Amino acid sequence: MFVVSAPSGTGKTTLVERLIEGVPNLRMSRSYTSRPVRAGEIDGVDYHFISRARFDAMIGADEFMESADVFGNLYGTALADTERVLARGEDLVLVIDVQGARQVRERGIPATSIFVLPPSFAILERRLRGRSQDDEAQIRRRLAVAREEVGAFREYDYLVINDELESAVERLRSIVIAERASRRATGSEAERIIETFADDRTKQARSGA
Ligand code: 5GP
Repeated sequence: MFVVSAPSGTGKTTLVERLIEGVPNLRMSRSYTSRPVRAGEIDGVDYHFISRARFDAMIGADEFMESADVFGNLYGTALADTERVLARGEDLVLVIDVQGARQVRERGIPATSIFVLPPSFAILERRLRGRSQDDEAQIRRRLAVAREEVGAFREYDYLVINDELESAVERLRSIVIAERASRRATGSEAERIIETFADDRTKQARSGA
């Protein structure tokens, strides 16, 4: 499992979409949210859009692996969805905020975490204004939250600076490839191979002969 966090406006969704296009067996998790659907978004594609009451009920039933209040709306990753993807042998990318990432860590769930930073505060501000998705108050709120959150990069395993899309995607791809080759990820396959190296005496000893 990969956890990706970044201040709002860093371009993390585009980055992760591009990453997934280029890497086999990798999926993006679909979160649940209580926020209203934005123009162009589709329920069940961008998010599972649910009411706050249903969200609270899911929290009560302990159905979330992590959940957080972000800009006044609730967001969460359902445990069952995650388990289904991992059981199929696919890797999963969670694009979640720093609070959610902390919960994943606190629960001891094995995951590789990646923080995406914009090249500077000024560039983040320009990007947020350029996408004209938010009004002035929302832009200011996103920038204020970004100021608070960027220091959290220290809690993550990897850092990717989104200076230029292609090279940032390439760095993300390298992280996934390296993690897939790590001993933690390849351990059971390695054990099977090592088993083929066992000589007759070792095999006899193991079978108790
Ligand atoms: P937006 O409303 O712009 O799609 O997302 C706002 C923020 O919510 C983003 O920073 C995004 O990473 C975060 N977010 C989206 N889904 C989840 C989730 O399932 N859990 C948590 N903790 N944060 C999420």
